Amino acid sequence: MIITGLTTHAIAVPLGTVFWMSREPYRTDSEIIVEVTTDEGITGYGQIHGRPMAEIVTILDNFTELITGMDALEHLAVWHKLFDVTTSRTREKMDPDLGQPHFGAGKRPQIMAAIAGIDIALWDIKGKALGLPIWKLLGAKNRPVSAYGSGGYYEQGESPLKVVDEMAGYVEAGYRAVKMKCGGLDVAGDLERISKVRESIGDAWLMIDANSAYTLEQATDAIQTFAEHDIFWFEEPLHWYDSARGLGRLATRTHVALASGESELHRWGIRDLVDLGGIRYMQFDCTRAGGVTEFLRVTAYAEMHGIMVAPHHDPQIHGHLVLAAPNGFAVETFPNPERDPLWTELYTKRPEIRSGMLHLSEDPGFGFDIDWRTVDRYRV
Ligand SMILES: [Mg+2]
Repeated sequence: MIITGLTTHAIAVPLGTVFWMSREPYRTDSEIIVEVTTDEGITGYGQIHGRPMAEIVTILDNFTELITGMDALEHLAVWHKLFDVTTSRTREKMDPDLGQPHFGAGKRPQIMAAIAGIDIALWDIKGKALGLPIWKLLGAKNRPVSAYGSGGYYEQGESPLKVVDEMAGYVEAGYRAVKMKCGGLDVAGDLERISKVRESIGDAWLMIDANSAYTLEQATDAIQTFAEHDIFWFEEPLHWYDSARGLGRLATRTHVALASGESELHRWGIRDLVDLGGIRYMQFDCTRAGGVTEFLRVTAYAEMHGIMVAPHHDPQIHGHLVLAAPNGFAVETFPNPERDPLWTELYTKRPEIRSGMLHLSEDPGFGFDIDWRTVDRYRV
């Protein structure tokens, strides 16, 4: 089955509210849809959750000629051909304006995102060609997949304690596990939020996500303060530049499980989080980097080290992979439609979330259909 073309659709929905993480605002819900066509009439769809979108789209445009004519079912051959771009001088056509023959340097996150979108589309094609959902293609048996309710941002113009009702609402809706942000206030301010959330959610699991807010000493102080409220995991506590060894030192200072991996680009980064970082939950996001192919590799490495996988975002993709992973833990879902309007608007068909569980269908591929009216409305 020959690849005949690649089309990209970048969309961005401006949000009505600014959702702050510890240090960064979330203002738009965006996605790049990657459409790969074949000579047998099967079309696969990949999705990329990465930035800057324009740079990723340019890379995808340049990748089109590299993969056109390749066999769509030979996903490893495609993956390695594209991955070579991160280290070789072979792609001088890709940046003619800058006269920069070594294309890979400096744009590796965007290249890894482009690879992700193509790889996911090829897996979608493989499933459709065989008439199998991805979870079955990977050998799993279908059952509901555990999901947790993610949110708890610092909403601009709102009390930081708005999180209390929000988290309680998710538990009321059936979630057994919820996640909120931390690191956007001082430790005393976050302690107030966390303690009140704990009171409001009973014995539900509570994860906290710092989005790389702290130094090692700050993170140590924070988790030692928060821990009495029964924290299930402490996610991305440390600044990005000390995210492996520093995390390993933090792991020796707290009994709370550490979670990380959504910002990693490849299996070597995950290896370091596992070997040096002492993580217990691995959160690699295959829509940000490397696709399904890299996800399977990092999942195998995590499993051998007793680490569960709980990927970041995009449950319509990651749900299949969590179901098929022996160490699959849960998918991340965003119950607030104001934070994640695309979950409500982007599909005419997709997996369903009911009572805190993700339900995958028997439909081939990833089992979602795009609502192209939504794509046209939010196209950038
Ligand atoms: Mg996170």
